[in-house]
Amino acid sequence: MIDRVTVERIIDAAEITEVVSDFVNLKRRGINYLGLCPFHNEKTPSFTVSPSKGIFKCFGCGKGGTAVNFIMEHESLTYPEALKYLARKYHIDVVEKEETPEEKQQKDDRESMMIVSGFAQRFFTRYLWEEPEGRQVGLSYFRERGFRDDIVKKFELGFCPSGKSIFTEAAQKEGYLMEFLEKTGLAIRREEWVRDRFAGRVMFPIHNIAGRVIGFGGRILKAEADSAKYLNSPESEIYHKSRIVYGIFQAKREIARADKCFLVEGYTDVLSFHQSGIENVVASSGTALTSDQIRLIRRFTSNITILYDGDEAGIKASLRGIDLVLEEGMNVKVLLFPPGEDPDSFARKHSSSELLQHIAGNETDFIRFKTALLLRDAGNDPMARARLITDVIRSVAVIPDSIARSVYIKECSKLLGVEETILYSEVRKILRAKTGNPAFSPSLETPARTPRQVIFPQEKPGELDTEELELLRFLLKYCKIPLFEQEEDDGNLPGIISVGNFIISQLTESEIVSKKPVFQTIFREIAERLDDPDFNPGKYFLFHPDKIVSQTASSLLAEKWVESKRWKKAGAFTEKESDALDWLVPRIVNEYKLRKIKEMHLRLEEEIGSLQTTGDENRLFDLLAKIHNLKKLEKFLSDKLGNRTIN
Ligand SMILES: [Zn+2]
Repeated sequence: MIDRVTVERIIDAAEITEVVSDFVNLKRRGINYLGLCPFHNEKTPSFTVSPSKGIFKCFGCGKGGTAVNFIMEHESLTYPEALKYLARKYHIDVVEKEETPEEKQQKDDRESMMIVSGFAQRFFTRYLWEEPEGRQVGLSYFRERGFRDDIVKKFELGFCPSGKSIFTEAAQKEGYLMEFLEKTGLAIRREEWVRDRFAGRVMFPIHNIAGRVIGFGGRILKAEADSAKYLNSPESEIYHKSRIVYGIFQAKREIARADKCFLVEGYTDVLSFHQSGIENVVASSGTALTSDQIRLIRRFTSNITILYDGDEAGIKASLRGIDLVLEEGMNVKVLLFPPGEDPDSFARKHSSSELLQHIAGNETDFIRFKTALLLRDAGNDPMARARLITDVIRSVAVIPDSIARSVYIKECSKLLGVEETILYSEVRKILRAKTGNPAFSPSLETPARTPRQVIFPQEKPGELDTEELELLRFLLKYCKIPLFEQEEDDGNLPGIISVGNFIISQLTESEIVSKKPVFQTIFREIAERLDDPDFNPGKYFLFHPDKIVSQTASSLLAEKWVESKRWKKAGAFTEKESDALDWLVPRIVNEYKLRKIKEMHLRLEEEIGSLQTTGDENRLFDLLAKIHNLKKLEKFLSDKLGNRTIN
């Protein structure tokens, strides 16, 4: 942990043009600087750096943020790592918080395990290239498989000598402790003997995102009935196989640049792709795909294409993977190879342009893929078709973004020949069962009378809508500006109500704070700091450790928001925004409320639609009463807003 004072010193010292210039050739353009975006492919520069605001923004791909964000993104570092990077650049001593002895011990253990793993990798690699057994057995295996020497070197492949414990003995002779050889699983010790886990295997070191070796996969070359073809390092403090994907270190830059990641199954698939010149590829290596692995990939792109063998097992494996990927809000495509082929064999038989062509021509959007597959199995059996619909809809329901969901529902409706409304009600059923949403559970409670008592249903996280963005922008820009005086409840003393006070109290009272995580975070953290005289929301959120929050803040504070087109369209806007806060702020609060109430209304209507099949009269009555109440509120707010429709 870096202490707060140091963090602030680093942030103050990090001059955005200096930081970016290390990686991008910047040219002055007016008060800003312009260059070619390092995050997407472009020929004309749309990457802008504003020294006065301390932020960068690409108008091509949308990436933007502070100097810290730039380093995180460009160097693929975490927030604290990026701070340390900047500290080194500006010669600031990083004072880390005192660690407890346990933390220290654990860190030392982890470090020792990494060091011994690094030694093992170098030992195995040297053995592969320099020792007769390594060359005759290991290197010739890779060459027979068609791997070029540069690929064998790039992935630091190696060979563990056969024989009982040649590696372990060599390591001990070099001063590495048995404790860490055992903890990393490189050595196996029993009371009466010690042996090398990987003896006689070709070695695939597994690198973490920073490029350090954390584990190994070893492949046996002799056909022995009693040993597995591939053997992995055991789970340890440094190696969790469910949290790492093979090849991420070698692929991360290209994944970010291509804005796409190919996911294959095995080590050799990754190697073959690199050999073909396709480097944005990782492997889940044997485990079923996990959410942690997907989140790791999502640090570099939100587009993923899953490539699997064309056999039945491969197909089933990709179906399991898809729902997980969708759940993380990523775009997913699927590609099966022809029967009898896998990504490895296909890549070896074809040139890289043929391989890319095959991928582009055959990758299928997941919904078409799953639907086509299941339709084939179901044939004309009505029961099987019903199960199929539920199955496909279950996948659609996990998508966090409601707009993306509705696109898929349209698509499904066409493919399955089922009406959209029916699919919608299926999705709602699944979502309801999942969240246990009180607003949707049957009850006989009296309907709400005032906005204060309206309970709003859970939303899945998603993009912020216009009103939410406007509210956040006002909170960030004008939080502390006095809005008007208000008499306090108990006495006669007038209190000054700031923009921040007003927005937060209005929304909290009517319980309509958006459930979207970014909105909630900013809203909550402002609410907690309203009374802090040193609180500067703009700066605070620009440097927020949550990347999505800081990006939201930087895009809200960027130039294009300064004059909101919406206000101009509304007609009355001739003054400067900051001079018109007393009517702008209440207005945007009311527009926000109106939007939320309309959304609520829509959801209730949808539920009524789905109720018609079950005929639950109590629930129907309940819903109608709620809708009646919402309609009154809608009218009240529309009147207040002068009946202008805002979209
Ligand atoms: Zn860009």
